[in-house]
Parts: sequence; C-alpha cells; structure tokens
Amino acid sequence: MTTTATKETLGFQSEVNQLLDLVINSLYSNREIFLRELISNASDAIEKLRFSALSDESLYEGDPETAIDIEFDRDAHTLTVRDAGIGMSREDVVANLGTIAKSGTREFFGALSGDSRQDSQLIGQFGVGFYAAFIVADKVTVLSRKAGAPEGVRWESDGRGEFTVEPCARSRRGTEIILHLKEDALEYADEWRLRGLIKKYSDHIAAPIRMASAQTAEPEDGEAAPAPALETINSATALWVRAKQDISDDDYKAFYKHISHDFADPMVWVHTKSEGKLEYTTLFFIPNRPPFDLFDRDVKRGIKLYVQRVFIMDDAEQLLPRYLRFVRGIVDTRDLPLNVSREILQRNKAIDTIRGASIKKILGLIETLASGEDYGKFWSAFGRVLKEGVIEDAPNRERVAKLLRFASTLDDAAEPAVSLEQYVSRMKEGQKAIYFLTAETHATAKASPHLEVFRARGVEVLLLSDPVDEWVVQHLTEFDGKPLRSVTQGKLELPGDEETGEKPEDAEASALVGKLKAALEGKVSSVRASTRLTDSPACLVGDEYDMSINMQRILRAAGQEVPPSKRILEVNEKHPLLMRLASEEGEQRFADLAVLLFEQAVLAEGGRLDDPAAFVRRVNQLLIDAAG
Ligand code: ADP
Repeated sequence: MTTTATKETLGFQSEVNQLLDLVINSLYSNREIFLRELISNASDAIEKLRFSALSDESLYEGDPETAIDIEFDRDAHTLTVRDAGIGMSREDVVANLGTIAKSGTREFFGALSGDSRQDSQLIGQFGVGFYAAFIVADKVTVLSRKAGAPEGVRWESDGRGEFTVEPCARSRRGTEIILHLKEDALEYADEWRLRGLIKKYSDHIAAPIRMASAQTAEPEDGEAAPAPALETINSATALWVRAKQDISDDDYKAFYKHISHDFADPMVWVHTKSEGKLEYTTLFFIPNRPPFDLFDRDVKRGIKLYVQRVFIMDDAEQLLPRYLRFVRGIVDTRDLPLNVSREILQRNKAIDTIRGASIKKILGLIETLASGEDYGKFWSAFGRVLKEGVIEDAPNRERVAKLLRFASTLDDAAEPAVSLEQYVSRMKEGQKAIYFLTAETHATAKASPHLEVFRARGVEVLLLSDPVDEWVVQHLTEFDGKPLRSVTQGKLELPGDEETGEKPEDAEASALVGKLKAALEGKVSSVRASTRLTDSPACLVGDEYDMSINMQRILRAAGQEVPPSKRILEVNEKHPLLMRLASEEGEQRFADLAVLLFEQAVLAEGGRLDDPAAFVRRVNQLLIDAAG
C-alpha cells in the first residue's frame, strides 16, 4: 500500500501554529478580509491553470470554464469557496497548507512584539493568505484535485496544531474550501453580506465570481430543485484593461492588495497604456511601507508579467532593476509570445523597451512624490534602496540622484531631507565641490572634527551614515557639474582660503610637525598643519583616492581583508595642546603625548585603537601627573 492511499495526521510547522494564533487573536476586528484572501488564492490558481494549459490544453479536461463559486448553507453553518483552477496534489496540500515558505518569514517572527494591536499591523504586512480562513471558521475542509490528475485530496483541520490528509474521489478539477463557521461568524452565511464583500474587495478579480441567484425559483412540490442560476457578482475583467476613468481609487487599492498580499493601501500608483510600435499596459504601485525582505537584494521582484491578459510569471526580474524592488504591479503586453520563458526575457528587445519605459514611469511617480509634502514617508521607507539606483542604473544616475535625500550640517533632523539640488543652490560663493562625510552613525558624523572649518566658514557638508552611501559616493562622483568630495580626504580648497591665507603646509610649522613625524613614525604616513580644524587638536585624513576609514570598517565587518592603510595626521597648531607640545622638552613625554594625539584622532572619527589598554595607561599617567 502506498502512503498516499491512507489518511495521515500531520503537525503544522511551528511557524504556522504561531501564525494561526496571531491570525485568530489579532485580526478579529478585520475579520471580513478572509474572503478576499481565499478569492485571491482562487484567482491565482485559475491564472496558473490558464498558463499551464497554454502548453497542454488537456488540463482543461474539456471544460474551459474557470470561475470562482461562492456558496453558503445556513443550516449547516458552512461557506464554500470553489475554484476551477489548477488544484493541488497531496504533496502540494501538505507543503502549502502546513508550512510557510515565503521570504521574510524569519524577520516577521522576529519583529513580533506580543502586543496584538502592533502585531496585527505586522501580520497585515506579512500576509496570511489561506490561514485567514481560521478567523471565521473553527474547522476548514479543503477538497482539491490537480488538473489532469486522477485522484483528489481531502485536507481538514481545526487550526490547532494538526491537520489530516487523505485521498478522495473528485470529479471536478480545482479546489474547494469549506469553512465551518464559528457561532459568532454566521453573518457570513448570508447572500447580501457576501455580495457586498465580493464587490468591495474582489471586484477587480479577472475571473467571474459567482453566487446562486436570489431569484432562483422554489421547487414545486414533489419536483427536484432545479440547479440554481449562477450570477456573476464582480466585473470579471482584468482591472488594467478597463478604461482609467472607469476604475475607482478603491478598485486600484483592492487590486494592489490582491497582487501584493499587503493589507494596507498603496502609497501611490501609475497606470499607463502604450499603443505605439509596442502595445503594452503597465500598472505600478508603491507600497506604504517596506516589506520584511526589502534589504535582501536577491529577493524576487514583485512584478507580474501577462501576455494578452494571460498570466505568465510572477517576479519577472527582467522587468525592473533591483533598486526598484519595492514596486509592485503588472506588465501586460501583446508583443511577446505566450510561451515566453525567463531565458527569452533576458534577451528580448520588447522587454528592454518596456523595462526602460517602466523605469521612467516609476521615477516620474517618485518625482511627483518628491515635490509633495510627504516625501519623507517615502524616503524613510525606501530611500536606502533607491540609493542603489545611483550604483546600478548609470543611464538614470542623475535622475535618481535628484531623488536622494541626505542629512547635512545645515539640516540634521532625524529624517534626511536635503536634496543635492538644494545643496547646490545654497553653495557658498567660490565653493567648488559638494562636500560629504561618511561615518558609521549619524552621531559620529555630526561630531567629527573634520567638520570644524566647514562650520566656521558656513559651508554645508552632507552627513552620510548608511553603509550603502560609501558606494553611492564612489559612483556619484559629480552632480550638476560639481564634484563630490570627502571632507576627510585630500587637501581642502575652501571658499575663504584666500582671505585667511592659510596653506596646508606652512613652513613655520615644520619644527613641531617634524618632531611629531618622527614620534609617530609607522603609525601615520605623514603629519601636516591643518586647515580643517578650529577646535580640535588633530584629525586623520586620507589621500584623495584612499579608501575611506568607514568603507574599510564596512568591508572588514563583512569579513573581507583590507590591508591597513596609514593616513596623514593633521594638527591644529593654534590649539593649546599643540602649543604645549611645541614647548615640551622631555623626550619620552613628547612621544607619549604625540601618540595620545594620534589615538584621540582615531577615536574622534569612531575608529578603534589597536591597543586600547595602552591608551588607558597613557591617559591615567597624565591624570596622575596632573593631580600632582
Ligand atoms: P500565498 O498565497 O501568499 O502563497 P497562502 O497561504 O494563501 O499563501 O497559500 C499558500 C499556497 O497554497 C499558495 O501559494 C498556493 O500554492 C496554494 N493554494 C492556496 N489556495 C489555493 C487554491 N485555491 N488553489 C490552488 N492552490 C492554492
């Protein structure tokens, strides 16, 4: 006997149990969404069937009708959602309705707080799909037969840790989900309630959603009841095909929820039909909040590809670059063959054109957001990902760069809000470059001694503290004709230099500087008088083309070998400490103070000392001396 011939009781994966608890406890106030989730799955199953049938028409089993039927039985307390879609095998059922196999699962469970209000928000973001059935049902029976397979499968569970699976005979292909409604959920066994929910949440579904018509005649005494006439409740056309003026905002929002599995409304969308050489329609949404796996660059992108309304594939990565991976939506075209594969997409002219136009549409949408009040919300959700565009999308680099927002010395609010255009518009007269500082944290950046002269001269500096910023500044070497310059690297040429007559290396400084060079031999590549400092005694700077210290730190943290690089110590000779050093006669003491000066400069930029204990000893010795 094969195992598939028997009834088996299996346990849910532990994450499913956790999710079910959450679903039941946290989604109570929004219970009606269960229907939209089940209809959404049914619609996906129909799309999958239609796609598979492109290459194997026998999967229709002679019945190409693909509808979703909703039935209820008031006496039996059941509600049934039936689809004529692809169906599931026993293995599919066990894998799909017993485990969670989606990206972001670990992050989702890690983010839960135990507070049901907050957690219900998170669940909405994660999506619960099929498991939403247990919000209103205390038992769920699933009957399914995969298109083309001889035997069906029956799955059943009360949502408490276990489910059963067994084979069953089933004439229809597709899936039937029977909800045994909880006592307090009987309101859903009601024709008008259901019609209302279908209209509200699922009108955009392309397959017809049908219910038995209320007008079906009662059977005459002694006669068998006639099969009730089925009435289609939704509009039953692909939403993006309809004329824009016939689509309401609510329709767009509902459609977004269907394709994204997000419970929240999208932030904005753009719907375009192109009828030129190529005929295609795109509908793109920007979500309101980032998904759990936003920073996984390998995650699939959320664009569905349709060819002449037939769903071809999810996550069509050729359609958008990675830095727009937060966008959800669809592309439908007539200009691809129905049997198009991922391989064909990779070198297809039509796709290249559609991709290029899509990027422009989406950047346009973000530009509109950027000119409004709420750009901060977009920026805090997706800004870090958008920055990758500067690295990845050379043709659109300048356009993406305009959309970036940074913190700066003139505006260091928690939300980065300074654009490069704004920076350029308030550059000082004679200022030649756009200055920036990269550091591990915003606080370190803000406190850096390298900023002193910029503050003193009123020159704005962008404060960059996202790891990706290091790559951004490597690729964005100029903006609006102005080079981007690190304040920690190279010699400075600042507006106002002429008046102060400062020169980086001053002949008079050489005695002290020469002694420091000797004392710090091996620790720094050189010592020079600084034009950067006004309050601090010293800071470290790199050569113009050196890798920044922050970049070295990031690479080391990622496990890469970075050869140690020596930098230049710049000293502020007007600082009392340096004046004191200049007159120090004790050789050992001079050497100790010189090393301390260097170590302080390392600490001030958020760096790590090679020998922290020796530093502490040196400071303690100084304190003891000072205390007399
Ligand atoms: P999601 O839809 O987000 O993948 P669900 O928990 O809703 O998550 O469903 C899990 C999987 O179960 C689906 O991806 C699909 O493969 C399968 N499934 C659910 N409902 C149906 C259905 N009506 N017909 C066929 N497969 C289904």
